[in-house]
Amino acid sequence: MVLETSFERHALPLEYPFGIARGTTTEREVVTVRIEDDDAVGVGAAAPASHYGETVDTVTAVLPDLLAVVEDEVTDADDLHRLETVERRMRETVRGNPAARCAVSIACHDLVAKRLDVPLYRYWGLDPDRTLETSYTIGLDDLETMREKTETALERGYGTLKIKLGTDRDLEIVETIRSVAPDVDLFVDANEAWEPKEAVRKIDHLAEYDLSFVEQPVPAENPEGLRFVYERSPLPIAADESCVTLADVPQVADRCDIANLKLMKCGGLREAKRMIHAARAHGLEVMLGCMTESNASIAAACHLAPLLDYADLDGSLLLADDPYDGVPLPDGRIDLAGLERSGTGAVRE
Ligand SMILES: [Mg+2]
Repeated sequence: MVLETSFERHALPLEYPFGIARGTTTEREVVTVRIEDDDAVGVGAAAPASHYGETVDTVTAVLPDLLAVVEDEVTDADDLHRLETVERRMRETVRGNPAARCAVSIACHDLVAKRLDVPLYRYWGLDPDRTLETSYTIGLDDLETMREKTETALERGYGTLKIKLGTDRDLEIVETIRSVAPDVDLFVDANEAWEPKEAVRKIDHLAEYDLSFVEQPVPAENPEGLRFVYERSPLPIAADESCVTLADVPQVADRCDIANLKLMKCGGLREAKRMIHAARAHGLEVMLGCMTESNASIAAACHLAPLLDYADLDGSLLLADDPYDGVPLPDGRIDLAGLERSGTGAVRE
Protein backbone atom coordinates (compact mmCIF):
# COMPACT_ATOMS: atom_id res chain seq x y z
CA MET A 1 0.00 0.00 0.00
CA VAL A 2 1.35 3.41 -0.92
CA LEU A 3 0.14 6.51 0.87
CA GLU A 4 0.00 9.82 -0.91
CA THR A 5 0.55 12.85 1.26
CA SER A 6 0.27 16.55 0.49
CA PHE A 7 -0.33 19.90 2.16
CA GLU A 8 -1.42 23.37 1.16
CA ARG A 9 -1.80 26.78 2.73
CA HIS A 10 -5.20 28.43 3.05
CA ALA A 11 -5.99 32.01 4.02
CA LEU A 12 -9.22 32.15 6.02
CA PRO A 13 -10.84 35.60 6.33
CA LEU A 14 -12.62 36.19 9.64
CA GLU A 15 -16.21 37.42 9.84
CA TYR A 16 -15.19 40.23 12.24
CA PRO A 17 -11.72 41.52 13.12
CA PHE A 18 -10.81 39.31 16.12
CA GLY A 19 -9.46 41.30 19.05
CA ILE A 20 -7.81 39.88 22.15
CA ALA A 21 -5.58 41.57 24.74
CA ARG A 22 -2.46 40.86 22.63
CA GLY A 23 -3.74 42.27 19.30
CA THR A 24 -6.31 42.05 16.50
CA THR A 25 -6.37 39.79 13.44
CA THR A 26 -8.58 39.93 10.34
CA GLU A 27 -7.37 36.77 8.61
CA ARG A 28 -5.91 33.44 9.68
CA GLU A 29 -3.55 31.29 7.64
CA VAL A 30 -3.69 27.54 8.13
CA VAL A 31 -2.03 24.56 6.47
CA THR A 32 -4.28 21.69 5.41
CA VAL A 33 -2.81 18.17 5.22
CA ARG A 34 -4.15 15.26 3.16
CA ILE A 35 -3.14 11.61 3.62
CA GLU A 36 -4.62 9.36 0.99
CA ASP A 37 -4.66 5.60 0.47
CA ASP A 38 -6.38 3.49 -2.19
CA ASP A 39 -9.91 4.22 -1.02
CA ALA A 40 -10.01 7.17 1.41
CA VAL A 41 -8.52 10.57 2.17
CA GLY A 42 -7.69 11.72 5.70
CA VAL A 43 -7.78 15.47 6.25
CA GLY A 44 -6.26 17.56 9.03
CA ALA A 45 -5.01 21.11 9.46
CA ALA A 46 -2.52 23.17 11.42
CA ALA A 47 -3.58 26.55 12.80
CA PRO A 48 -0.22 27.74 14.13
CA ALA A 49 -0.04 30.40 16.86
CA SER A 50 2.93 32.77 16.89
CA HIS A 51 2.44 33.04 20.68
CA TYR A 52 3.70 29.46 20.86
CA GLY A 53 6.47 30.01 18.29
CA GLU A 54 4.78 28.62 15.19
CA THR A 55 3.87 30.20 11.86
CA VAL A 56 2.65 28.76 8.56
CA ASP A 57 6.30 28.92 7.46
CA THR A 58 7.53 26.77 10.35
CA VAL A 59 4.63 24.36 9.75
CA THR A 60 5.40 23.93 6.05
CA ALA A 61 9.11 23.59 6.88
CA VAL A 62 8.59 20.54 9.16
CA LEU A 63 5.61 18.85 7.46
CA PRO A 64 7.74 16.91 4.92
CA ASP A 65 9.65 15.26 7.81
CA LEU A 66 6.42 14.51 9.70
CA LEU A 67 4.68 13.06 6.66
CA ALA A 68 7.81 10.98 5.98
CA VAL A 69 7.25 9.40 9.44
CA VAL A 70 3.74 8.35 8.38
CA GLU A 71 4.91 7.05 5.00
CA ASP A 72 7.73 5.12 6.69
CA GLU A 73 5.56 3.69 9.48
CA VAL A 74 2.57 2.70 7.33
CA THR A 75 3.45 0.15 4.69
CA ASP A 76 0.30 -1.96 4.83
CA ALA A 77 -3.30 -1.17 5.74
CA ASP A 78 -3.05 -2.54 9.32
CA ASP A 79 -0.13 -0.22 10.09
CA LEU A 80 -2.53 2.71 9.94
CA HIS A 81 -3.77 1.73 13.40
CA ARG A 82 -0.36 2.35 14.95
CA LEU A 83 -1.38 5.88 15.81
CA GLU A 84 0.51 5.95 19.13
CA THR A 85 3.70 5.06 17.33
CA VAL A 86 3.12 7.68 14.65
CA GLU A 87 2.56 10.41 17.26
CA ARG A 88 5.58 9.31 19.32
CA ARG A 89 7.87 9.22 16.30
CA MET A 90 6.65 12.66 15.21
CA ARG A 91 7.53 14.02 18.68
CA GLU A 92 10.99 12.46 18.34
CA THR A 93 11.43 13.83 14.82
CA VAL A 94 10.68 17.50 15.49
CA ARG A 95 10.89 19.28 18.82
CA GLY A 96 7.91 21.52 19.52
CA ASN A 97 5.91 22.35 16.38
CA PRO A 98 2.65 21.14 17.96
CA ALA A 99 0.28 22.55 15.30
CA ALA A 100 2.23 20.84 12.51
CA ARG A 101 2.19 17.51 14.38
CA CYS A 102 -1.47 17.95 15.17
CA ALA A 103 -2.40 18.38 11.49
CA VAL A 104 -0.83 14.99 10.71
CA SER A 105 -2.36 13.36 13.81
CA ILE A 106 -5.83 14.53 12.78
CA ALA A 107 -5.40 13.39 9.18
CA CYS A 108 -4.24 9.91 10.33
CA HIS A 109 -7.20 9.54 12.73
CA ASP A 110 -9.61 10.72 10.03
CA LEU A 111 -8.22 8.17 7.57
CA VAL A 112 -8.35 5.26 10.06
CA ALA A 113 -11.95 5.99 11.07
CA LYS A 114 -12.98 6.44 7.42
CA ARG A 115 -11.47 3.07 6.50
CA LEU A 116 -13.55 1.50 9.31
CA ASP A 117 -16.53 3.57 8.13
CA VAL A 118 -17.23 4.93 11.63
CA PRO A 119 -17.22 8.47 12.99
CA LEU A 120 -14.17 9.18 15.13
CA TYR A 121 -16.09 9.32 18.44
CA ARG A 122 -17.27 5.75 17.85
CA TYR A 123 -13.74 4.59 17.05
CA TRP A 124 -12.83 6.01 20.48
CA GLY A 125 -15.84 4.40 22.21
CA LEU A 126 -17.43 7.72 23.22
CA ASP A 127 -21.13 8.40 23.72
CA PRO A 128 -22.41 10.96 21.17
CA ASP A 129 -25.32 11.90 23.44
CA ARG A 130 -22.94 13.11 26.15
CA THR A 131 -22.34 16.34 24.33
CA LEU A 132 -22.39 20.02 25.16
CA GLU A 133 -22.58 23.48 23.68
CA THR A 134 -19.58 25.37 22.37
CA SER A 135 -19.17 28.91 23.51
CA TYR A 136 -19.11 31.63 20.86
CA THR A 137 -16.43 34.27 21.37
CA ILE A 138 -17.05 38.01 21.31
CA GLY A 139 -13.67 39.57 20.47
CA LEU A 140 -12.50 42.92 21.81
CA ASP A 141 -13.84 45.95 20.01
CA ASP A 142 -15.52 49.22 20.87
CA LEU A 143 -18.44 48.82 23.23
CA GLU A 144 -21.15 49.41 20.63
CA THR A 145 -19.66 46.83 18.24
CA MET A 146 -19.35 44.27 21.05
CA ARG A 147 -23.00 44.87 21.90
CA GLU A 148 -24.00 44.37 18.24
CA LYS A 149 -21.94 41.20 17.94
CA THR A 150 -23.64 39.86 21.08
CA GLU A 151 -27.10 40.61 19.68
CA THR A 152 -26.17 38.84 16.42
CA ALA A 153 -24.87 35.84 18.39
CA LEU A 154 -28.17 35.63 20.30
CA GLU A 155 -30.15 35.83 17.03
CA ARG A 156 -28.07 32.89 15.76
CA GLY A 157 -29.16 30.87 18.79
CA TYR A 158 -25.89 30.69 20.76
CA GLY A 159 -26.54 30.22 24.47
CA THR A 160 -22.94 30.31 25.73
CA LEU A 161 -20.71 33.31 25.08
CA LYS A 162 -17.05 33.99 25.85
CA ILE A 163 -15.99 37.60 26.15
CA LYS A 164 -12.43 38.71 25.57
CA LEU A 165 -11.18 41.13 28.21
CA GLY A 166 -7.85 42.72 29.17
CA THR A 167 -8.61 46.42 28.71
CA ASP A 168 -9.17 49.44 30.94
CA ARG A 169 -12.95 49.09 30.36
CA ASP A 170 -13.42 45.43 31.29
CA LEU A 171 -16.24 46.01 33.77
CA GLU A 172 -18.10 48.20 31.33
CA ILE A 173 -17.81 45.51 28.64
CA VAL A 174 -19.21 42.78 30.89
CA GLU A 175 -21.99 45.04 32.18
CA THR A 176 -23.01 45.92 28.61
CA ILE A 177 -23.00 42.34 27.36
CA ARG A 178 -24.83 41.03 30.44
CA SER A 179 -27.51 43.69 29.91
CA VAL A 180 -28.26 42.47 26.36
CA ALA A 181 -27.71 38.77 27.17
CA PRO A 182 -29.11 38.23 30.69
CA ASP A 183 -29.70 34.48 30.32
CA VAL A 184 -26.63 33.10 28.53
CA ASP A 185 -23.75 31.23 30.18
CA LEU A 186 -20.92 33.75 30.15
CA PHE A 187 -17.15 33.09 30.24
CA VAL A 188 -14.47 35.80 30.22
CA ASP A 189 -10.85 35.55 29.03
CA ALA A 190 -8.22 38.15 29.96
CA ASN A 191 -5.45 36.52 27.88
CA GLU A 192 -2.76 37.26 30.51
CA ALA A 193 -3.50 41.00 30.56
CA TRP A 194 -3.89 41.65 34.30
CA GLU A 195 -1.49 41.99 37.20
CA PRO A 196 -2.38 39.66 40.09
CA LYS A 197 -3.79 42.34 42.44
CA GLU A 198 -5.63 44.04 39.57
CA ALA A 199 -7.09 40.63 38.64
CA VAL A 200 -8.42 40.00 42.15
CA ARG A 201 -9.94 43.49 42.28
CA LYS A 202 -11.60 43.09 38.85
CA ILE A 203 -12.84 39.56 39.53
CA ASP A 204 -14.46 40.77 42.78
CA HIS A 205 -16.55 43.17 40.67
CA LEU A 206 -17.08 40.71 37.80
CA ALA A 207 -18.55 38.20 40.27
CA GLU A 208 -21.75 40.30 40.28
CA TYR A 209 -22.44 39.32 36.67
CA ASP A 210 -22.95 35.56 37.13
CA LEU A 211 -19.90 34.45 35.13
CA SER A 212 -19.02 30.75 34.79
CA PHE A 213 -15.24 31.37 35.09
CA VAL A 214 -12.37 33.74 34.38
CA GLU A 215 -9.72 32.49 31.96
CA GLN A 216 -5.99 33.24 32.17
CA PRO A 217 -6.13 36.38 34.33
CA VAL A 218 -2.34 36.83 34.58
CA PRO A 219 0.72 36.05 32.43
CA ALA A 220 1.81 32.42 32.18
CA GLU A 221 5.30 33.54 33.18
CA ASN A 222 3.88 34.38 36.62
CA PRO A 223 2.76 31.03 38.10
CA GLU A 224 2.79 32.42 41.64
CA GLY A 225 0.57 35.26 40.43
CA LEU A 226 -1.89 32.68 39.11
CA ARG A 227 -1.93 30.98 42.51
CA PHE A 228 -2.41 34.37 44.23
CA VAL A 229 -5.50 35.04 42.07
CA TYR A 230 -6.87 31.49 42.37
CA GLU A 231 -6.69 31.56 46.17
CA ARG A 232 -8.59 34.86 46.37
CA SER A 233 -11.02 34.62 43.45
CA PRO A 234 -14.76 34.26 44.08
CA LEU A 235 -15.07 32.84 40.52
CA PRO A 236 -13.50 29.66 39.11
CA ILE A 237 -10.19 30.22 37.27
CA ALA A 238 -9.27 28.57 33.94
CA ALA A 239 -5.68 28.17 32.73
CA ASP A 240 -4.99 28.45 29.00
CA GLU A 241 -1.59 30.01 28.23
CA SER A 242 -0.40 28.43 31.54
CA CYS A 243 -1.47 24.93 30.45
CA VAL A 244 0.07 24.04 27.10
CA THR A 245 1.36 20.46 27.27
CA LEU A 246 0.82 17.36 29.40
CA ALA A 247 3.70 18.33 31.72
CA ASP A 248 1.90 21.59 32.58
CA VAL A 249 -1.16 19.83 34.03
CA PRO A 250 0.37 18.96 37.43
CA GLN A 251 2.03 22.41 37.50
CA VAL A 252 -1.30 24.27 37.31
CA ALA A 253 -3.37 21.79 39.34
CA ASP A 254 -3.10 23.76 42.60
CA ARG A 255 -3.66 27.16 40.99
CA CYS A 256 -6.73 26.83 38.77
CA ASP A 257 -10.09 25.05 38.58
CA ILE A 258 -10.26 24.37 34.85
CA ALA A 259 -7.62 23.31 32.32
CA ASN A 260 -8.21 24.80 28.86
CA LEU A 261 -6.55 22.38 26.44
CA LYS A 262 -6.11 22.95 22.71
CA LEU A 263 -5.10 20.51 20.00
CA MET A 264 -2.80 23.13 18.47
CA LYS A 265 -0.94 23.56 21.78
CA CYS A 266 -0.50 19.90 22.69
CA GLY A 267 0.31 18.46 19.27
CA GLY A 268 -2.09 15.62 18.66
CA LEU A 269 -5.38 13.90 19.39
CA ARG A 270 -3.87 11.18 21.55
CA GLU A 271 -1.87 13.72 23.53
CA ALA A 272 -5.09 15.72 24.04
CA LYS A 273 -6.81 12.64 25.48
CA ARG A 274 -3.87 12.04 27.83
CA MET A 275 -4.13 15.67 29.00
CA ILE A 276 -7.88 15.34 29.58
CA HIS A 277 -7.40 12.30 31.80
CA ALA A 278 -4.38 13.81 33.59
CA ALA A 279 -6.36 16.99 34.32
CA ARG A 280 -9.21 14.93 35.79
CA ALA A 281 -6.77 12.92 37.88
CA HIS A 282 -5.57 16.23 39.34
CA GLY A 283 -9.11 17.28 40.21
CA LEU A 284 -9.48 19.82 37.41
CA GLU A 285 -12.43 20.38 35.14
CA VAL A 286 -11.63 20.23 31.44
CA MET A 287 -12.30 22.66 28.64
CA LEU A 288 -11.20 22.13 25.04
CA GLY A 289 -10.53 25.37 23.20
CA CYS A 290 -9.20 26.21 19.77
CA MET A 291 -7.52 28.81 17.61
CA THR A 292 -9.42 30.39 14.74
CA GLU A 293 -9.37 27.26 12.59
CA SER A 294 -11.33 25.64 9.80
CA ASN A 295 -13.38 22.49 10.23
CA ALA A 296 -10.43 20.57 8.76
CA SER A 297 -9.14 20.61 12.36
CA ILE A 298 -12.09 21.75 14.52
CA ALA A 299 -14.20 18.76 13.41
CA ALA A 300 -11.69 16.42 15.09
CA ALA A 301 -11.79 18.40 18.35
CA CYS A 302 -15.60 18.09 18.40
CA HIS A 303 -15.30 14.30 18.75
CA LEU A 304 -13.73 14.79 22.20
CA ALA A 305 -16.87 16.62 23.41
CA PRO A 306 -18.16 13.64 25.48
CA LEU A 307 -15.02 13.93 27.68
CA LEU A 308 -15.36 17.67 28.41
CA ASP A 309 -16.95 20.01 30.93
CA TYR A 310 -16.67 23.04 28.66
CA ALA A 311 -16.13 23.44 24.92
CA ASP A 312 -14.82 26.54 23.20
CA LEU A 313 -14.72 25.16 19.68
CA ASP A 314 -16.00 28.17 17.76
CA GLY A 315 -12.99 28.58 15.44
CA SER A 316 -15.00 27.79 12.33
CA LEU A 317 -17.98 29.89 13.49
CA LEU A 318 -15.71 32.96 13.57
CA LEU A 319 -14.73 32.63 9.90
CA ALA A 320 -16.39 34.61 7.10
CA ASP A 321 -16.56 31.39 5.10
CA ASP A 322 -15.15 28.00 6.08
CA PRO A 323 -14.06 25.94 3.03
CA TYR A 324 -14.75 22.79 5.13
CA ASP A 325 -17.96 21.48 6.62
CA GLY A 326 -17.64 19.53 9.89
CA VAL A 327 -19.65 18.30 12.88
CA PRO A 328 -23.10 20.02 12.90
CA LEU A 329 -23.35 22.83 15.49
CA PRO A 330 -27.06 23.73 15.66
CA ASP A 331 -27.38 26.69 18.06
CA GLY A 332 -23.79 25.94 19.08
CA ARG A 333 -24.60 22.40 20.31
CA ILE A 334 -21.94 19.89 19.20
CA ASP A 335 -24.27 17.41 17.50
CA LEU A 336 -22.12 14.29 17.16
CA ALA A 337 -25.19 12.04 16.80
CA GLY A 338 -26.27 14.21 13.86
CA LEU A 339 -23.01 13.64 11.96
CA GLU A 340 -23.72 11.46 8.96
CA ARG A 341 -20.16 10.99 7.73
CA SER A 342 -17.32 8.76 8.94
CA GLY A 343 -13.94 9.99 10.20
CA THR A 344 -13.89 13.49 11.68
CA GLY A 345 -16.64 14.55 9.30
CA ALA A 346 -14.47 17.24 7.73
CA VAL A 347 -15.34 17.60 4.07
CA ARG A 348 -14.54 20.29 1.53
CA GLU A 349 -17.74 22.13 0.67
MG1 LIG B 1 -7.86 31.69 26.13
